[in-house]
Amino acid sequence: MPRPKHCAWCGRVIEPGPTNRPRKYCNQSCRQRAYEQRAQLAGTSIPADSVMLSANAVERFRDDLFELRCAAEDLCTAVREGESIEAVEELASELEDLARRIERLRGHK
Ligand SMILES: [Zn+2]
Repeated sequence: MPRPKHCAWCGRVIEPGPTNRPRKYCNQSCRQRAYEQRAQLAGTSIPADSVMLSANAVERFRDDLFELRCAAEDLCTAVREGESIEAVEELASELEDLARRIERLRGHK
């Protein structure tokens, strides 16, 4: 599976455009916010491309990762215990949805 390209600001997956030109941001507002951050960080020792998340956001991210691990464990258990293919597929699909949500770094939920 090709690795998706994520918006450098919000982390949402960027769908390839008609020109196939690689885009860094998913939309104009993300581009603008990244520009503002670069301007604010100019002259400081903080790298301009730093990804800054609030403590709250990191907490949510950690919770999401824990949820992801639990979903993976549930899937492993289902396989080990010989659950039906339908049940296993449902768990795998939940895991996929969860991972997709976590890929969006900012502003998920
Ligand atoms: Zn974005």
